[in-house]
Amino acid sequence: APVVVWFRDDLRIADNPALCAAADQRAPVIALYVLDEESSGIRPLGGAAKWWLHHSLSALQADLADHGIPLVLRHGAALAEVVDIVGQVGARAVVWNRRYGGPERSVDTEVKASLSAAGIEVESFAASLLFEPWMIRTRNGDPYSVFAPFWKACNAAPPPRLPLSVPERINRSADLTGVTRLEMDELALLPKHPDWASGLRAAWRPGEASAQRALADFFDGSLRTYASDREIPGTPGTSRLSPHLRWGEISPFQAWHAAKVMRQEASEGVRAFLSELGWREFAWHTLFHSPDLATANWRPGFDAFPWPAIRPDLLTAWQEGRTGFRLVDAGMRELWRTGWMHNRVRMVTASFLTKNLLVDWREGERWFWDTLVDADSASNPFNWQWVAGSGPDSSPYFRVFNPELQAAKFDPADRYTRANIEEWRTGEYPDPIVDLRETRANALDAYEIVRNRP
Ligand code: FAD
Repeated sequence: APVVVWFRDDLRIADNPALCAAADQRAPVIALYVLDEESSGIRPLGGAAKWWLHHSLSALQADLADHGIPLVLRHGAALAEVVDIVGQVGARAVVWNRRYGGPERSVDTEVKASLSAAGIEVESFAASLLFEPWMIRTRNGDPYSVFAPFWKACNAAPPPRLPLSVPERINRSADLTGVTRLEMDELALLPKHPDWASGLRAAWRPGEASAQRALADFFDGSLRTYASDREIPGTPGTSRLSPHLRWGEISPFQAWHAAKVMRQEASEGVRAFLSELGWREFAWHTLFHSPDLATANWRPGFDAFPWPAIRPDLLTAWQEGRTGFRLVDAGMRELWRTGWMHNRVRMVTASFLTKNLLVDWREGERWFWDTLVDADSASNPFNWQWVAGSGPDSSPYFRVFNPELQAAKFDPADRYTRANIEEWRTGEYPDPIVDLRETRANALDAYEIVRNRP
């Protein structure tokens, strides 16, 4: 009887412990992906994420086919779909790599209970985080709320395991006659009318092979200058691995060990890069302990923050990159066009929305969720709360980025601005929609109210 590997945010065949475990069983292996937009609490993917998923799944399907493994696609509530497929193929076991979001964990627990009750073996593995969230705790057993001691504790824990190779021997005799499965196009992940994805197609190649290439290129190139150049948008100063990590086309174990190998040659860059992987861990551990991170202020005292009624004209100007502040607008347009934005500019655009426009961070989080190819349910709300001042180890409330000074400092020669704002040179560029000094003062007044609350 076959073993089913249920793929989720781990769209790769190398360093995939669930796939390795299935191969070890010497039974036919069937891969499954369920597009779940129905289970309670599961957040439907944004548009850019769906575009990525389509191409990443296509790449995975081809890679699995090379190893004789069929990928079955389904659309529906995971519990019903997994149970159904297991019945149709007569599987004796189901394996998967763990997820850490609240609703995802509930679904996985339900699926496990239901399969186990039917005598089907279930096993899950650690594959998308370097450290399991329940392993990293303060001496009192609490989750960490400050990054530096968190990362110190991670580095003192048993080191992340070595990456696993692609299983060599996979039993090829899976028979899918009579099994219900969708074609890739039936998942309807791509935009049709209008097709807004041309900028995404120009910027990215989803899939494991290109993830590996991006990792190798980064380690051959920008890692050496990463510590200094990572703050300069518009240059290839960072790894651009975020969507590949988001979809699990490469694992943090692969990135971690690749970096460790480079320790001699590029120590400063390696330390900085590993610490960024640390922020990714911190965001996910925070989500594990606070599953409603995308909807509720992590600091409860922040609930008293006096957000004024939203002015739709200001929100739209921000979304469309028409605020009249070049770094904000260049960032928002880079995001819309390519599905990605440089980290420095994410911080500036988020600060501008929440502080100068006094728009609730949840509005910004939702926009990023829909437009980022790397949007994930931990990093996105975590970083929005970090900027807004409501999250763990947040930037202090009085830190309001000045977008003009930030532009002068991080894009002094207008390179990034020109690359993203067509009308920058023609003089048709809009005037600022708000006064920076006045809005900053208003924000600080509003923040006074929550300043000393927990
Ligand atoms: P690099 O500098 O090369 O970093 C390497 C990897 O470390 C990244 O690929 C990413 O996986 C991780 N990383 C780096 N910084 C962070 C961080 N602050 N938090 C979590 N992980 C980090 N990142 C996402 O992956 N998904 C999101 O939805 C997301 N939303 C964000 C929203 C806001 C408002 C802000 C300020 C930041 C957000 N980030 C998010 C974090 C960060 O901006 C991106 O991870 C980074 O820009 C990706 O580019 P890179 O791969 O070249 O990064």
